[in-house]
Amino acid sequence: MTNVELINAVIKAIKRDIVLGEYDALILMLSDVPRENLLAFLPESEETEDEGICPACNGSGEGMREGTTCRTCRGSGES
Ligand SMILES: [Zn+2]
Repeated sequence: MTNVELINAVIKAIKRDIVLGEYDALILMLSDVPRENLLAFLPESEETEDEGICPACNGSGEGMREGTTCRTCRGSGES
């Protein structure tokens, strides 16, 4: 069995467990996986939760008038 075949077989088994609602084995298995590997599976928005677009300027970094800088984010456009 090649690595790819093994991975595909594991994915198939995981899918089956999810369909059957048998999460215990998955939780047990995933608890052995390093945290950073688990985090790699999450969408990027989950990891960068506290970084967002500045609500005051909608990310432009510009102030109320042209040529001025947003006071809330100091021109970065991020909150
Ligand atoms: Zn701003």
